[in-house]
Amino acid sequence: MKIPKKMLIVGPCAVESRDQVLETVKQAKKIGVEYVRLSLWKPRTKPGFEGIGEEGIKLLVEAAKMGVNPAVEPMIPEHAKLAMDAVMTATKNGKCMLWIGARNQNHYIQREVSRIAARNPRTVLMVKNQIWHNEKHWEGIVEHCLSGGIKKSHLILCHRGFAPIGDNPQGYRNVPDYNMAMRMKEKTGLAMIFDPSHTGGSIEKVIKITHEANEHEFDGFLVEVHPNPKKALSDAIQQLAWSQFRRLLKSLYKKRVKRAKLVHGFGGATMHLPFKT
Ligand code: PEP
Ligand code: MN
Repeated sequence: MKIPKKMLIVGPCAVESRDQVLETVKQAKKIGVEYVRLSLWKPRTKPGFEGIGEEGIKLLVEAAKMGVNPAVEPMIPEHAKLAMDAVMTATKNGKCMLWIGARNQNHYIQREVSRIAARNPRTVLMVKNQIWHNEKHWEGIVEHCLSGGIKKSHLILCHRGFAPIGDNPQGYRNVPDYNMAMRMKEKTGLAMIFDPSHTGGSIEKVIKITHEANEHEFDGFLVEVHPNPKKALSDAIQQLAWSQFRRLLKSLYKKRVKRAKLVHGFGGATMHLPFKT
């Protein structure tokens, strides 16, 4: 038996410079992640660094030509079109991910970004849950995205927790509802990944919550990893260094192999780490 590998979307909170992108691509290739987070536009709680914007499209193209698949969050449909067209024309077989963030949701964005993503079969759309705790609203997000024409095979859901109200004993930045996420996965038949960075909110909690989420049937993880987290222009306190991320992956894989042996009662489970230990 082979333990299926989980999808990994990994990279900094935001693109900041060419050097940062090149280092990210180098590290991501070593691990063999499916998509590299390379966001150019950032939703911000308070005014601050909003991403380098359109100017960064050439860096997405450079990364794609180096053999990785960029993932980017557009603020408006026009951004989605710019990023997707540039990456798709730069490579023959490369893939690209557009994602809709929790703080930038409305039915117009959902439908129109879906319409754009649906134009190219090498593009997938990932959509996060909204910030408040409500299952009906989350269902609506999926319905609006599907109404834009994206195929179910090209739509991925991402749980990033809900803004805390009331009890939050673990002090997470956003509180996960694993049961709701698993119900949404079941009801929609869509892949469901987990974002430990925007749920955890600090390095220590990101590591802890990844292990917690790994006990559920998530299909992958979206993780913020920065070449020099302390210098990051956004979300500096929650971004992992690459060495921390590799250690986290190793411990997850070890746990999964152990669990497979226990559950299936055999000693032959194989799980290859995508990088040398
Ligand atoms: C992000 O992933 O960059 C982000 C802004 O997160 P969220 O939309 O979940 O707040
Ligand atoms: Mn972030």
